Amino acid sequence: MSAYLRLLSSKRNQKLVHKKLHKLTKETSKSLIDYLFPPVCLNCLTPLEVPHKVCPDCWQNIEFLVAPLCEIKGTPFPFDLEPGTISAAAIKNPPEYDKARGVAAYEGTMKDLIHKLKYNDRHELLNLLITWMKFSGKELIQQSDLIVPIPLYKSRLWERRFNQSALLAKRLSEQTKTPYDCSIFHRKKKTRSQVGLTSKERYQNLKNAFIIEETKRNKLEGKSILVIDDVITTGATINSAAIALKKSGARSVNILSLAIVTDSHNKFM
Ligand SMILES: [Zn+2]
Repeated sequence: MSAYLRLLSSKRNQKLVHKKLHKLTKETSKSLIDYLFPPVCLNCLTPLEVPHKVCPDCWQNIEFLVAPLCEIKGTPFPFDLEPGTISAAAIKNPPEYDKARGVAAYEGTMKDLIHKLKYNDRHELLNLLITWMKFSGKELIQQSDLIVPIPLYKSRLWERRFNQSALLAKRLSEQTKTPYDCSIFHRKKKTRSQVGLTSKERYQNLKNAFIIEETKRNKLEGKSILVIDDVITTGATINSAAIALKKSGARSVNILSLAIVTDSHNKFM
């Protein structure tokens, strides 16, 4: 019997050989992939050492939303305040949802990445975006019983082929082991664009925009719901979603988004 066959005759050795072969195959395919598709910045395509990241320049061009933040709206304060402070905007017009958080301000690299995900089908961005969402939404995710995405209208779904909020929500659910349901909401009517409307008009425009069927009530009754949206612009969409969810029995409704249009755009604060 050759030395090789003798080596394979023991089960332990067979396992070791399999393990080594598996590792070798993995390493070979990894270097082949790296050779064929060298890692680049997910935003500007500058070559990088590691895959699924953005380059230092693009990173610097992201305004991550970190404390101090409005406890309710998740919008940044320009100076240090006690944790739990609520912005003047949230006191004046208390939102229907409980808390909203976003990864970054809707500008610079984050705006570019969202655009690429939405309109250019760049699904390879999801891993990085989800990592950021898990960090920014840690507290909200821990409290959640169910994750639901904001739906698109059927016509828009047809144009874009996929709902980016549903993709984010599904991936987040898989990684955090939190239940997910993309069939909770339906869009009732196609609303006109929110651009140029006053806050009262925006509210009227989106009031009753979402329907939740009676059969879904048992999924929501007494539950803490985490709604996923890509960008929070005026807050009218998420307010409308929160009204519908609470009417159907949800105990609390929190919102997690990739980006929030912040004070500098004079829309959300
Ligand atoms: Zn870059």
